[in-house]
Amino acid sequence: MSTNAIETLQFNCTTCPSECLLTVEVERSADGAVVEVRSVIGNSCPRGDKFAHQELTCPMRVLTTTVAVSGGDEALLPVRTADAIPLALHAQAMDLIRGLVVNAPIRMGDVVLPNLLDTNINLVASMDIE
Ligand code: SF4
Repeated sequence: MSTNAIETLQFNCTTCPSECLLTVEVERSADGAVVEVRSVIGNSCPRGDKFAHQELTCPMRVLTTTVAVSGGDEALLPVRTADAIPLALHAQAMDLIRGLVVNAPIRMGDVVLPNLLDTNINLVASMDIE
């Protein structure tokens, strides 16, 4: 006999500014792991279906934070990942980023840390610092 549970969730697709409200039926095992995304409704385009599956199996987010600066006219440099990385890696990434110090001058878009945690995504500067 299956002990899996069926759950209905609602969340917004954040892929584009329309932010469609998705209603997602998901099957979970007894330990809470997602067994299957059974249905997605409310999406105005196929990207919403893809977003729902991604959100329930491996949610992705852009990480934004700051890094210490040496020799600049600002003490902290705002940085972001160039693209979304798995949300599950954010804490580990923050542990790594907290120890960084970058040397001024820095230009917006400069790579502060390449291939963050082997994601193939760079951490980049979000502003200029002289
Ligand atoms: S489902 Fe499509 S239209 Fe709706 S927010 Fe997502 S990407 Fe945009």
